[in-house]
Amino acid sequence: MENYVPDLYVKSIYYVDYKKLKERGIKCILFDLDNTVAPLSIKKPTKKIKDLFIKLKDMGFKIIIFSNSPKSRLKPFKDELEVDCAFSCKKPMRRKFDLILKLYKFSVSEIVIIGDNIITDVLGGNKVGITTILVNPISAKERFFTKICRKYEAHIINKLSKKELFYRGKYYE
Ligand SMILES: [Mg+2]
Repeated sequence: MENYVPDLYVKSIYYVDYKKLKERGIKCILFDLDNTVAPLSIKKPTKKIKDLFIKLKDMGFKIIIFSNSPKSRLKPFKDELEVDCAFSCKKPMRRKFDLILKLYKFSVSEIVIIGDNIITDVLGGNKVGITTILVNPISAKERFFTKICRKYEAHIINKLSKKELFYRGKYYE
């Protein structure tokens, strides 16, 4: 059950204390795309997203968009934000996480994943032992598969709150 609990839980990617992450030794940020960085309705990055990514790169972070979505969805973000991308990641499976660790030569203590889904982003990250940050989904509009996933997630969140491990809307850093 503990594998479903994020290390940090904040409102959105704009509320994360990136300075603190840096101080904790984080060097690489894996960003989930859909409903974490942008809602499905947005096909390319807005100015607000661009500004955040510029700031993070200036701070020295390696940024990788790490998404279960296909290459075609990620391409405009990759091009305009000038970051690396991993598509069709099949989170929570650990294969692509392991690949990133191997490819970029980061240790688990140097990587964080930021995502809006406990079943994919948080569980996947916790399985490999990297830091996990949960944010609230930007929009209620989701892909068919994600909708199914959300039902299971709601069930897990219910169980977690009964065990006093996690509460929706109760933020912590
Ligand atoms: Mg997402």
